[in-house]
Amino acid sequence: MLKGKTALVTGSTSGIGLAIAGAMAREGANVVLNGFGDAAEIETLRAAMAEDNGVEVRYSPADMTRPDEIAAMVADAGKEFGAIDVLCNNAGIQFVSPIDEFPVEKWNAIIAINLSSSFHTIRAALPGMKQKGWGRIIQTASAHALVASPFKSAYVAAKHGIAGLTKTVALEVARDGITINAICPGYVWTPLVERQIPDTAKARGITEEEVKRDVMLAAQPTKEFVTVEEIAALAIFLASDAARNITGAMLPMDGGWTAA
Ligand code: NAD
Repeated sequence: MLKGKTALVTGSTSGIGLAIAGAMAREGANVVLNGFGDAAEIETLRAAMAEDNGVEVRYSPADMTRPDEIAAMVADAGKEFGAIDVLCNNAGIQFVSPIDEFPVEKWNAIIAINLSSSFHTIRAALPGMKQKGWGRIIQTASAHALVASPFKSAYVAAKHGIAGLTKTVALEVARDGITINAICPGYVWTPLVERQIPDTAKARGITEEEVKRDVMLAAQPTKEFVTVEEIAALAIFLASDAARNITGAMLPMDGGWTAA
């Protein structure tokens, strides 16, 4: 379905982004991976994704807090592959703390990575999409783009910001063959979720098991974590021509969390 197209997925060395990148490669897209991690492990991932799917896979170490590195990543992808057809803004971090103790540098990092990096990638990738008259922008937002939880001020603010950015860009490019949508997952079992369990336990004064049962899955009526494969399948649908009239949408995949 995406043969000959190029997908750039930020934050794709792990978790949801890695699943989206793998799914794009299986559909025949060339892929630009991005994110942090062990260099040898990333190279193994990159080489396997390319070989398994018969596509080109490149890796960019661009730091999503750095507008100059983001611009260079998009420009390099353009030089290498022509242009970016499918842009998946997925990189994200989390920090859990009461707001009056929230470290300023954590606030700044979350706003930069979870919100501003999408502005920078979209700004850089749109001219190429407009030239082709086709493009797909897929944001990994969160249920926290729609509702709040305590102790996640920066994350909730950034993800609500993604909602506003998604809707605004949708209106700006509606006649250009380009769609932009945000997937709003509930709790997905990834390293990001695993890492926040000890801090949430500390902030709430409960055990780690209680965090999983009473905080995370308490919000999800299905009582199940969403899987990365389910998120990737929705991203593939949004990249398809069948989804061309879905734009500016916030699409929950949260086991019913935001229905409550
Ligand atoms: P993860 O920690 O497994 O992956 C995050 C990715 O972002 C990694 O590849 C990491 O290297 C990369 N990254 C972090 N900082 C970066 C930076 N400065 N520059 C470039 N890359 C950077 O997390 P995940 O759970 O897969 O999260 C992916 C996205 O999904 C995030 O935007 C997150 O907010 C969102 N999300 C996750 C869940 C969940 O429950 N896991 C739920 C809703 C939304």
